[in-house]
Amino acid sequence: MSHEPAHQADKPPAAPPGNAFVIGHPISHSRSPLIHRHWLDQYGLDATYKPHEILPRELKRFFSRIRSGAFIGGNITLPHKEPALALCDQLSREAKIIGAVNTIHVRNAEIHGFNTDVYGFLANLDQNAPGWDDNLASAIVLGAGGAARAVILALIQRRATKIIIVNRTEKKAANLATHFSAHTVNTNIIFAPPGEFNRFAPTANLLVNTTSVGLNGTRHRWIDLSGLDRSALVTDIVYTPLHTPLLKEAAGLGLSVCDGLGMLLHQAVPGFELWFNVRPAVTPRLRRIIQADIHRS
Ligand code: NAP
Repeated sequence: MSHEPAHQADKPPAAPPGNAFVIGHPISHSRSPLIHRHWLDQYGLDATYKPHEILPRELKRFFSRIRSGAFIGGNITLPHKEPALALCDQLSREAKIIGAVNTIHVRNAEIHGFNTDVYGFLANLDQNAPGWDDNLASAIVLGAGGAARAVILALIQRRATKIIIVNRTEKKAANLATHFSAHTVNTNIIFAPPGEFNRFAPTANLLVNTTSVGLNGTRHRWIDLSGLDRSALVTDIVYTPLHTPLLKEAAGLGLSVCDGLGMLLHQAVPGFELWFNVRPAVTPRLRRIIQADIHRS
């Protein structure tokens, strides 16, 4: 017979404590510690989440520390997302297809690698632009870097009929179109030079900026939004500033817009859940905390 007081016996089982990390170079700009520490406080978990400045030549050694049990898991940011792939013992399907790992979890002394940017991108639009993927006939993706890979896979998952990759360096767009075409039978993936944006604009339901243009208020020189249909949604994964020139211009034309901060917040959810057995909520309060930090920087 249990001698525990009733109120203790009714408590949910405590999540296992653990140490989590984010590694990168540089790492001081990362907002992941703010996000995860907010959740650790909110859910009263006795665990840590710390940033570590790791140079490329130190990555292998850091993975040895992970494997030896120093951490329950963590996040991986630039420039380690691709090199980390080869250091994991197991990879999720998404990490393999994208070719980059941003989240790891240690299970039975094995390092499992994931890419949660696909989830983050989709959850942001699902939360802030519900119905965005109803009849997704045509999506234009600006950019062909690492983030574009996650966005393209996300759009394939939501069965976009057609994706047009538009990038300054055409060869990179061509390579992505070939790579991702091998992973879908439902989505027609093509590429086009920036000068052809206007040809595809009138029939696009969705325009996604995945380039770094927008950072610090920079603008695309070759994109004219006036050709987009008034029902199109424009989203930017750049979130510093929150309202990039692209989003401001789109809103000025009366188009629906969705900023990229939600992607950052939502991509953190699966990792936290893996490490601490609690699925954290992306709340307006968390968003305000990170927004305030962006304004301060
Ligand atoms: P990346 O791999 O370096 O790719 C950069 C992309 O931007 C390339 O397509 C590049 O074109 C293009 N680009 C850069 N400068 C340009 C210019 N002046 N004109 C036209 N195109 C230009 O970077 P990434 O990892 O994909 O990240 C891109 C952005 O997304 C970053 O700002 C990052 O912070 C943001 N991001 C946000 C989230 C989120 O959670 N919201 C997640 C991931 C990334 P070329 O191929 O021609 O060089």
